[in-house]
Amino acid sequence: MPNSYNGWSAAPGWTVKGGQLTPLVVRGEPFSPGVRSGDVHTVLQYVAVQLDARVERVDFGHSADDWGYNYRANTNNPSQLSCHASGTAFDYNATQHPNGKGGTWAASEAAEIRRILAEVDNVVKCLWGYDEMHFEIAGNAAAVARVAAKLRGAVSPSRPPVSGIQYEDFRKDVKDGSRVVKLGSAGDDVAMVQRWHGLEADGYFGSATEAAVKATQARNGLEADGIVGPRTWALMGVGAPVAPARKSVGQIAAEVIAGKWGNGPERERRIRAAGYDYDAVRAEVNRRI
Ligand SMILES: [Zn+2]
Repeated sequence: MPNSYNGWSAAPGWTVKGGQLTPLVVRGEPFSPGVRSGDVHTVLQYVAVQLDARVERVDFGHSADDWGYNYRANTNNPSQLSCHASGTAFDYNATQHPNGKGGTWAASEAAEIRRILAEVDNVVKCLWGYDEMHFEIAGNAAAVARVAAKLRGAVSPSRPPVSGIQYEDFRKDVKDGSRVVKLGSAGDDVAMVQRWHGLEADGYFGSATEAAVKATQARNGLEADGIVGPRTWALMGVGAPVAPARKSVGQIAAEVIAGKWGNGPERERRIRAAGYDYDAVRAEVNRRI
């Protein structure tokens, strides 16, 4: 098997279904089709979530702006395989940080990015100066595993935060995706939901966690109830992918007219992301109004 230039094995045809990839999603924006499963995913997901939370919000306004795995040559040196070919890289807000351009991050943003990369012991790097959308794994498997273990172990259950919410007793070592979690849940699996959303991972499912989950569900065409069941777990890359409940083109058109899918490019993106035929929906909307 050939390697991408960072030394990680690469192959064509990787998919989430095949298990080689896990979806990388930040607040509902997919870095399609995902990145290498396991430790690489844990580390890249952390970096992407922190970029969104601390440096620059992930951009929903463009349809193809954020990418993960892609079996292809390195754009800047075609004799090598791109790190995207081994699922060990993602591109972040490509429109704002185009290939071939330096200085796309302000000094304060670059400083924050360097702090984030230091938090993962610099096993991820940004291609400063010429491909600043691009973040890739720069460490070997052992180094990446050490960082991933550190990130997964970041939970420190102490006592529930003071609030009006009744929390259950904290459940240690409960497997991600093994149960439904919602407002009042507490455990290691809740911490995973929080990390995925870039929230403080205290393991107590409070109102901030609920709001974040609702936003993710809405962006992905799920019912925004704030309850993390099989479909929402699947969205976070846990468990078997679950096909979303299918609605007819007519139902989606009625929802569009009722304003449930937002407007403009954001609406198109959401409808496509939820797996619906945007052109058919648009035609049906035009027929009805
Ligand atoms: Zn790239």
